[in-house]
Amino acid sequence: MRSHQFLNLPMLAVGGESGLVSRPRGVNPCTPHTPCTGYPSPMAIRHDQGIVLRGYPFGESDRVVIILSPNNGKLRTVAKGVRKTKSRFGGRLEPLTQVDLVLYEGRNLDTITQVSTIEAFPHVRDDLERVGIAGAMLSVVDAVAQENESAHRLFLLLHRALRVLNDGPADPGLLTAFYLKLASLVGVAPALADCASCGGHVDVERFSFAAGGVVCSRCATPDSVKLRPGLLDYLAVLAGSELASLPENGGLAGDGQGLVRRFLEYHLERKFTVAELPGG
Ligand SMILES: [Zn+2]
Repeated sequence: MRSHQFLNLPMLAVGGESGLVSRPRGVNPCTPHTPCTGYPSPMAIRHDQGIVLRGYPFGESDRVVIILSPNNGKLRTVAKGVRKTKSRFGGRLEPLTQVDLVLYEGRNLDTITQVSTIEAFPHVRDDLERVGIAGAMLSVVDAVAQENESAHRLFLLLHRALRVLNDGPADPGLLTAFYLKLASLVGVAPALADCASCGGHVDVERFSFAAGGVVCSRCATPDSVKLRPGLLDYLAVLAGSELASLPENGGLAGDGQGLVRRFLEYHLERKFTVAELPGG
């Protein structure tokens, strides 16, 4: 098995760390000046980093690990032997861990040859409520991240949100603010002030998933819903707030979170993990 054979070769064969970074993927290094030697090519090994989104069993003892990399978007990697008791990866490939990776590039999946933890967000893991919120964040990121496409802003948003959650206490509006910022990043931000259909701003108090946000009384369709007073203003402030300093929610946190999650589900055509409100 090709990848297994390569795994046993010493890392020295690729010329040290400095030569491993930022190589273009899939480039054949064999040229008339550097003919193929039968050894794995230097370009087949690369460094990357990212936040583990999820994993699932693969074969008898391996695990596929999905990671959000700022440079390369969603990575589909395989950790060999990770389900054995004495795996050299330990718990470092659990969801919610920010990791530094050495990868061997495969045809379909990249194989993890080394992993070290950059940040583990320990206070998120300690608290079921926060684990639930983080899980909801990861599920949306997993749905919008693309493979082989840089994702710097998405990565920074997720990293910032996890750090705020870790440093807690969890704000009831944090997940909703995260949803709104992510919606803006991927181009599906709901209209929260002017009518999504006509742009008007008179009698704008109903919300239509299909229209893309709030609608005025003239544009309201049967599917639009009446919102509780203050909810739109709350969401608009959330959308523009720094994650570590969110506004008072005035009892609207639950409605806000449900509305924005369902809006994302409607426009991204996916179902996302539902999280309980902190303290709820
Ligand atoms: Zn209108």
